[in-house]
Amino acid sequence: MKPMIDLKKQYAEIKDEILHVVNEILESSQYVLGKRVSDLETGIRDYHGVREAIGVASGTDALHLAIKSLGIGTGDEVITSPFTFFATVEAILYTGAKPVFVDIDPDTYNVDPLLLEKKITKHTKAILPVHIFGHPADMEKIMDIAAANSLKVVEDCAQSFGASLHGKKTGSFGDAGCFSFYPSKNLGACGDGGMVVLNNQDIADAIKMLRNHGSRGGYRHECIGYNSRLDEIQAGILQVKFRKIDEYNGRRRENAHMYNRLLADSVVCPVELPGAVHVYHQYTIRSPRRDHIQQKLKEQGIPSVVYYPIPLHLQKAMEYLGHREGSFPMAERVSKEVLSLPMYPELEAADIHCVADAIRACLKE
Ligand SMILES: *Cc1c(COP(=O)(O)O)cnc(C)c1O
Repeated sequence: MKPMIDLKKQYAEIKDEILHVVNEILESSQYVLGKRVSDLETGIRDYHGVREAIGVASGTDALHLAIKSLGIGTGDEVITSPFTFFATVEAILYTGAKPVFVDIDPDTYNVDPLLLEKKITKHTKAILPVHIFGHPADMEKIMDIAAANSLKVVEDCAQSFGASLHGKKTGSFGDAGCFSFYPSKNLGACGDGGMVVLNNQDIADAIKMLRNHGSRGGYRHECIGYNSRLDEIQAGILQVKFRKIDEYNGRRRENAHMYNRLLADSVVCPVELPGAVHVYHQYTIRSPRRDHIQQKLKEQGIPSVVYYPIPLHLQKAMEYLGHREGSFPMAERVSKEVLSLPMYPELEAADIHCVADAIRACLKE
């Protein structure tokens, strides 16, 4: 059976272009923050219809530098989802701010805006919605709540490159949109990389300084920064894939629709809310018999992964926040029921049928 994600197949399709670009960069001897990075920044900036895009070393750094550049730090609170990858809260904690969780919507697995307002205190500075699995969070409501309470909004778009809500791309709603180019993401490099997109020029300048040791250049350092640069080889590879991202996402969507047709009667399939374009970073089903399904798939050599088995508030590293089982019931329930199935643009119809047949058969047992 095929893997969860087959990067070899994608590489085979674009191998000549990639090798050509990488060779050009190696010959050029310009390896960090050069023309490839700035061209990629321009491309991704225009794709999102924003004024600035800044390449950084990872998605985690994109979040960290975005939060920090907005002036958020010790004593501040940032509201986010307990149902996400751990890096989302790490980025908040690096700045000294405190993550405050709000439970999720059981259909999209994104933060539930109806519960969000109750979490706002006089210390709240920002909301950090995650577009989990590639389905946009309810940005229109979140932006309204943020505006009414003078809060910043930082979007975690690590899983949602190309997703949109009523024609507007994720990452372009808030004060900053943060992307990851980790190899398995919808737009993935051959190593680590990330990007922040935003409209505010001053914040963009601050992020550009933070990514480069607090300097605008010339060995003048205005603040303590980081080494968080994007390199030319990653940017060159990303440019090749960026040209194809809509096609890749389109193929993910077709694959998801095929899974939906085959599985609708057996499990809870992912939803796509009206006005939303889901880019299926993960194709994630939900069933009270999740463990049984996963075991049976495994016996047949079909891979599947639980994203995420432990919600963040129950992680050992988060113990000091004092949450318990029952603090966020929906996130906890979803963690026990979700299962992500093989998903990538090159996945074939026969594979989708094979996975769906195995699931349907095991649910009859
Ligand atoms: C991948 C991911 C990140 C972190 O991105 P890196 O590039 O691996 O640092 C953050 N948030 C979410 C939701 C992710 O999926």
